[in-house]
Amino acid sequence: MGYFVIDRSIGIAMIAALVIVTMLFILYTIRLNKAKNLQKKTVQDNEQWKEKFKTLEESYHSSLSSLNDLTGKYEELNKNKESMKKLAYTDYLTELPNRTAFTEMLDNVMLTLRSEETIALMDIDIDNFKNINDSLGHSYGDELLIDVTYRLKQVLDENDYLARIGGDEFIVLTQNLQDTLVFEDKIKKIKNVFSYPFILSTKEYFVTVSIGVALAPKDGKTSQTLIKNVDSAMYMAKENGKNTHAYFDYSFNQKLTEKIEIQSQLRKALERNEFVLYYQAQMNLETKKAVGYEALIRWNHPIRGIVYPDEFIYLAEETGLIVPIGIWVLRTACQQLKKWSEEYPGITMAVNLSARQFKDRDFVKQVYDVIEETGIDPKNLELEITETIALDDIDYTISTIQELRKIGVNFSLDDFGTGYSSMNYLKRLPVSNLKIDKSFLNTVMEDKSDQKIIQTIITLARNLDLFVIAEGVENFDQELFLMESNCDKAQGFLYSKPVPQELAVELLKSSDIRPAEIFRPE
Ligand code: C2E
Ligand code: CA
Ligand code: CA
Repeated sequence: MGYFVIDRSIGIAMIAALVIVTMLFILYTIRLNKAKNLQKKTVQDNEQWKEKFKTLEESYHSSLSSLNDLTGKYEELNKNKESMKKLAYTDYLTELPNRTAFTEMLDNVMLTLRSEETIALMDIDIDNFKNINDSLGHSYGDELLIDVTYRLKQVLDENDYLARIGGDEFIVLTQNLQDTLVFEDKIKKIKNVFSYPFILSTKEYFVTVSIGVALAPKDGKTSQTLIKNVDSAMYMAKENGKNTHAYFDYSFNQKLTEKIEIQSQLRKALERNEFVLYYQAQMNLETKKAVGYEALIRWNHPIRGIVYPDEFIYLAEETGLIVPIGIWVLRTACQQLKKWSEEYPGITMAVNLSARQFKDRDFVKQVYDVIEETGIDPKNLELEITETIALDDIDYTISTIQELRKIGVNFSLDDFGTGYSSMNYLKRLPVSNLKIDKSFLNTVMEDKSDQKIIQTIITLARNLDLFVIAEGVENFDQELFLMESNCDKAQGFLYSKPVPQELAVELLKSSDIRPAEIFRPE
């Protein structure tokens, strides 16, 4: 047979070969597919990576720009911080370092102070600055502070650090202090810059300063103590009459503590009814009879006994307590006047006014109220103000006096001759009486010029239709001189010391002058 017979084993081998080939082919195809898939995946991955890279790159750039932003902001913040610091350390008006800056500076100086080194602190405070501020307004007050800064800078040198630590308070820190004489010279120079006037609102104003001095380490080892002590030295300069300087002394703090103590006791004194009024007679020099009284306050202190007004009125004035005390004085004196008037019609009562009381907004109303409440005749009330108070703000003084004159209240110019005694002003003041200050009477018998002054004052008063009262009459020679000089009234120890009302009334009962001895219980 012609067909091809394949050996069985060959057939099997062929089939096997075919199977192997097919398997190989399948394997190859699988591999190929895998490879293709892999390739595809790699491409995909690549794309993804590219994408990721792109996002990364973008966020890198955005971080970079945020970083730049942040750096900018940081710099701005730093700048702000610096200007804030400058603001916090600089006095806006004078552009001098302020209290914070000064304290920090002093802290540092004290930390590095060598044992043999001395530094000085000077506290310079403008006297009566409040008056300028009140009468001219704050903008002129500011102008003055700027002028003062300018003048101070001119006399200070590279060893001095000037700062403004309060409203009208400057402080100078002087380092490398060689000797105190040089320092005294510096103080003199500072005082000198105030010897010529300041021009404010086209007018000339003379300004004085009170200077306190403290030395370190002698007067304090920390900035806090030093600033406190230089302040109390300045305070002492004020107490010594202003326009002067004082070196710190440890006794100052003691005095200051006492003062604060008295002020707190004064506060309670009114509630506890510790004040009393004494009355000093005013004599008509023609009839030699008591025609009126001046009410003078005393503090009946529970421990110290009778305390005189010179010791506490200024303290009450400083704290403002003088206003309620003044109202109490006015009311009590008017109540007394009412009682005495019933038996002795026409008798007058003089009441002292303090600056603060007179300047009080409600002053006129307070006087009206007391008059109404006590039922006195306002014509018998005489309110005493000093020249200094009267001339401080002359327009206010004139209108206030006029307001009260409408109902008959009279005014007296107290301590006349010790203040400005400007004739121009006197002419304008609607006062009724002049009280010649007792300092002229002290020496009148020995000093011819005092006699002339008294006679001139009396003539002047006559020309202005004013009554004259001489204060501090202690002997008959003085009385005679006053009578010959045509003085209207006299007041003094010759007739009576200020006495409590039950003794004062004795003088009214008598028709003649009482011997002065009877009225000397003080
Ligand atoms: P002032 O108003 O000048 O009162 C006269 C002062 O001179 C009184 O002192 C009086 O005792 C004293 N004096 C009177 N006659 C003589 C004399 O012949 N010789 C001498 N050496 N002195 C005489 P006082 O009572 O101590 O008062 C002192 C000052 O206190 C008063 O001076 C007055 O400015 C003030 N003051 C007194 N009472 C009050 C008040 O109620 N309110 C206010 N704001 N101040 C008052
Ligand atoms: Ca008086
Ligand atoms: Ca007086």
